[in-house]
Amino acid sequence: MPALAEIQSTTPARAPFMRTRTSSRLVCTICADSMIAAEASALSDDEISYLWTCDTCGYGFVTKHAIKKVA
Ligand SMILES: [Zn+2]
Repeated sequence: MPALAEIQSTTPARAPFMRTRTSSRLVCTICADSMIAAEASALSDDEISYLWTCDTCGYGFVTKHAIKKVA
């Protein structure tokens, strides 16, 4: 009777999604896909808001940037 050896493969520790590549592009926090362009922008008195929507998973968020007025 042949002995059956059970091979236990050690599962490599998978790092939580993280990209070492430095990029100025925004990355979706849900699916880690990169955002290419803002879908919409809204301008208020002292800040501009950009609406970002992920094409892959549909996750959306808004970034706000202060505007420095040049008097
Ligand atoms: Zn996404």
